[in-house]
Amino acid sequence: MKNVTVPTTARAAVIATIKEDLVIKEVNVIQPSELAAGECLVKVDYAGCCHSDVHVKNNDWGRTQTPVIGGHEGVGHVVAIGANTVGSPVKVGDRVGMKWFANACLKCEMCRLGFESCCTLARQQSHGNTVDGTFAEYTRCWVDYLTPIPEGLDSAAVTPLLCAGLTIYKALKLSNAKPGHWVALSGAGGGLGHLGIQFAVAMGLRVIAIDTGAEKKDLCLKLGAEKWVDFAESKDLVKDVQEAAGGLGPHAAIIAVGNALPFNQAIMYLRSAATLVAIGMPGPANGILNIPIALLVSKCLNVVGSATGNRQDMAEALDFMARGKVNCHHEIRDFKEVNNALKDVSEGKVKGRIVLKIAS
Ligand SMILES: [Zn+2]
Ligand SMILES: [Zn+2]
Repeated sequence: MKNVTVPTTARAAVIATIKEDLVIKEVNVIQPSELAAGECLVKVDYAGCCHSDVHVKNNDWGRTQTPVIGGHEGVGHVVAIGANTVGSPVKVGDRVGMKWFANACLKCEMCRLGFESCCTLARQQSHGNTVDGTFAEYTRCWVDYLTPIPEGLDSAAVTPLLCAGLTIYKALKLSNAKPGHWVALSGAGGGLGHLGIQFAVAMGLRVIAIDTGAEKKDLCLKLGAEKWVDFAESKDLVKDVQEAAGGLGPHAAIIAVGNALPFNQAIMYLRSAATLVAIGMPGPANGILNIPIALLVSKCLNVVGSATGNRQDMAEALDFMARGKVNCHHEIRDFKEVNNALKDVSEGKVKGRIVLKIAS
């Protein structure tokens, strides 16, 4: 298929001023003739609203490059590929997914080791943070780092897998949990957590869901969590989680929330030789993990950090969905609702994920 005509301007939601609402406006669309080799233009169909979008908007991590088009989780179609691009894994017309990292060099030590998220180039090119993202009708991407979407999957339903699903799936892989093991998921009713329950169950793990509220409880139990701990109601969360796992505590904990307390609680409730996987990113001001060193040593604990996942993790996560093992609970809202959606995300009101319909 040949490159198609693209408009010169299109709608986008721009982070113009830190901590303020995104501005929805017409922006210039990069034209096919302006694309460098290796670059492409994607017409975005759907974009997910992730808690990281709130952190970026507030510049919690000190890396937001304003003005920047927000959003980093999306599904769309390739409409143009830069001239002289060699060996592209995607072609014009293909349905593709966009992730937090827009690109990675695929040549450095970290990329060779599978830690694409630690690639220097990737860190400089994160969608909706340091390069324009998915809250736009058209966005520039790099052909080598797009994710081909398997046929048969619904575009809106698959969108949250590109960030939330990838991140939680990778965390489960790193948790060392084996079939029959208990894994505690903090933030279990949210975007990452509710997908994590399903991946965990499909892997043969037993889930202790930690979150708050009757709606999230219902969702978590319906998705296969065996135990529920409401952090707002619990008088002694460490004790409650240990008892949920038969008294010894879980074999692994995955913490997908944006404040430090659940990380520090996990260190105290884990059983010996267990693994804590940190994937939520509290801001540096209060995001400190306090581990008594004697406890770390005597209980032989493992502490692992993980940022998103690599291309192989992404392909595996999509395969779980294609086989019907994982389904995203999502609510579709119109593009113009982006600021209300991010407000709901920041207030922890969202059960599952909000997906914005971008293409008109
Ligand atoms: Zn995200
Ligand atoms: Zn690299």
